[in-house]
Amino acid sequence: MVTFEPGNCLRLPDLPKNLFDILNKASSKAGISRVALVGGAVRDLCFHIFFNGPLPELQDLDFIVEGSASRLAKEIKNYIDHCRLSKWKIYKDFDTVEMKIDGVAVDIATSRRETYSVLGENPAISPCSIEKDLARRDFTVNAIAIDISDLTLIDPYNGIKDLKEKKLNFLSKMSVSQDPTRVIRGARYAARLNFDLSTEALNQVKSTIQDWPWSWHFKDNESLVPTSLSTRLRLELTLLIEKEPIWEALNHLNNWGAFSLIDKKFCFKRSYRRKLSWATKLKANRLIALILLFENPELVGKRLKVTLKEQKLISEAITIENFLKQKNINDECSKWTPLKWCQEIESKNWSTEAIALAISIGVPEWKSLLRWLGHWRLIKSPISGKDLIASGWQPGPLLGAELKRLREVQLKQIMKRN
Ligand code: ATP
Repeated sequence: MVTFEPGNCLRLPDLPKNLFDILNKASSKAGISRVALVGGAVRDLCFHIFFNGPLPELQDLDFIVEGSASRLAKEIKNYIDHCRLSKWKIYKDFDTVEMKIDGVAVDIATSRRETYSVLGENPAISPCSIEKDLARRDFTVNAIAIDISDLTLIDPYNGIKDLKEKKLNFLSKMSVSQDPTRVIRGARYAARLNFDLSTEALNQVKSTIQDWPWSWHFKDNESLVPTSLSTRLRLELTLLIEKEPIWEALNHLNNWGAFSLIDKKFCFKRSYRRKLSWATKLKANRLIALILLFENPELVGKRLKVTLKEQKLISEAITIENFLKQKNINDECSKWTPLKWCQEIESKNWSTEAIALAISIGVPEWKSLLRWLGHWRLIKSPISGKDLIASGWQPGPLLGAELKRLREVQLKQIMKRN
């Protein structure tokens, strides 16, 4: 049996000063019976205190209250120096509040039960106790709370035991079918914390994915996928790619067969690592680089509801690939000079990010694209427009043409040097 000492909370080094006191005073004034700290901060603190896990930097503090979160938040203002508060926002629909206290993000939510009338869609909500709120969460290790009035640990689903065993367990048998984004969250936690799915959790993932009603291939009808699920899948994938140990997390998704949530046929091959590493090196959008590895990237982009700008990037990268494949079949471009490459690329007005993505996925002649991106495109006329004007040229199209000619002379010289 693990016990939680009040002093343990002091181990949260970035906890705003007197925060629990302030919340306790404000909640008793607002007539709120219980307030608890939940989520990643509690999980990481418990893992650190009880099992010597690392204590990462505090990202945010999530509180749940039995009562109105917005009432509590308004009351907080009476107990805190206003200069400590910023980014204050109330969301009426779910009665949740976001704010920053001493620069730390604090979210307060009314404890709620969730009911799924359509699997994968957003749930309907109703108020409930803190224990019941914990039941709607993704994993038992995220369903631990600290009651801030007496600092007792609330652990109705044996989260501490799972922390000890480094296991990720879902909170219900329907967890994955209610919200398949939990599989991606699982891969994020497994990679970050070096945990495993428990046997039951892995079975649930595999069997749900096998029977998954929206298991989707690009030939299938797009309307079969719930809209909110698409958006949440994209958000979780973006977090996985940007914030977590990426190879471990993608490996988990692969081993669990979870990519079929996006496209039945997709499998993450070893060679793809190199491609995503290139996207990182070239500072290209890595979610789009991943999408470009699917059989039909444009449809996967739509399926994940990427932004219009990202859809354009996908289309451009495919256009570049098709263009170079075509030129490559005729063995045309292998003999192109740097000048010819510049003329071809620059006449198409492709964005540099689409070119970086095309390089990442290894289109034919990608090395020439790389030289253009890193070197040739940056070569300028040795004489600037200003200098030409100073030497008697008139501003206008003729001056532009002269600058272009001078740049081309430079590019021809590169060819000679090579
Ligand atoms: P971390 O990523 O380190 O866990 P966090 O706790 O801030 O940090 P969030 O993504 O903000 O993580 O989620 C807050 C809490 O909300 C989680 O601890 C989890 O219990 C719950 N949660 C988030 N997404 C889901 C989901 N799809 N299903 C169930 N619970 C969820």
